[in-house]
Amino acid sequence: MGIIYGPVPSRRLGMSLGVDPIPRLTCTFDCVYCQLGRKRCKVRGPEEVTEPFPDPEEIANGVREALAKHEHIDYITFSGSGEPTLNPGLGEAVELIRRFTDVPIALITNSSLLTRADVFDAAESFDLALPSLDAGEQDTFVRIDRPAYGFEIDEIAAAIGRLAREVPVWLEVMLVQSDKYGSNADDEAISAIIEKVGVIAPCEVDLNTCVRPPEEPVDSVSEERLNRIRARMEASLTGIPIVVVPHRAKAHSRLIREDEIEAEIMRILAVRPCTTVDLSDSLGINPAEVGKYLARLSEAGRIERRVQEGRLYYATKDG
Ligand code: SF4
Repeated sequence: MGIIYGPVPSRRLGMSLGVDPIPRLTCTFDCVYCQLGRKRCKVRGPEEVTEPFPDPEEIANGVREALAKHEHIDYITFSGSGEPTLNPGLGEAVELIRRFTDVPIALITNSSLLTRADVFDAAESFDLALPSLDAGEQDTFVRIDRPAYGFEIDEIAAAIGRLAREVPVWLEVMLVQSDKYGSNADDEAISAIIEKVGVIAPCEVDLNTCVRPPEEPVDSVSEERLNRIRARMEASLTGIPIVVVPHRAKAHSRLIREDEIEAEIMRILAVRPCTTVDLSDSLGINPAEVGKYLARLSEAGRIERRVQEGRLYYATKDG
């Protein structure tokens, strides 16, 4: 796989053009549910990576060429075969890409390096961040994510919280169970996660479970259990939408034409400021798709962003 892959239909981001900005299989974690196999290189930071990273120009040129070939891209998504924030040129790559496209740029990250100032600054330059948080306390974090030495879940969660004040954050929680590694979906583990999510205050929480059999003896959590966990989180985390991710794939739009969707968004926002998720619910389309329209309307100066009580709302200029 090269630096650029796809576009691939993503459950969360619509048609997503993937960017893999690191040497293959390099990560700060070794999650028990990882789909990438056990040949990973586990590192504490970019200083320990011995292979060269793709440089920002190389990444931007790859994106430019891919965009020329594919008409409909909803997001350019930095993710790939390991932890993308290991690349020290991430912020520069985003800056270069913005010079030739207004397609929104998303970051999928395991969150581990957000505690570093340079990585945090780079993460802030994305339109959307999808950080993971699989545990609320250190013991479960170590059992499930198996981080390189020195990572502390309290510090990581605090950094995600700071990021959520700057860019829309959809927090992904991957829930698994295993005879060998235990679970991060039992009542105690969920209580700890809820506590952290309350402090982070993301735009939404995506509850996920492993859907393909990984190499390790790890099982997915049943949909029924995911729904019970969602109900518990909703009761404790008022105002933060909790989404069981596999459900979202069933959502479909009743609106077809792009201009109709834009007009509908403007009509709704003229009545009241909304979050991305509010609009997604009203329109019946994927939040990633809504994000694309919001980025375009913001760019055109037709709507503005407002942060209220730590949450990002969109409103018409005079609304
Ligand atoms: S953070 Fe992602 S890439 Fe890294 S080990 Fe975990 S699942 Fe695999």
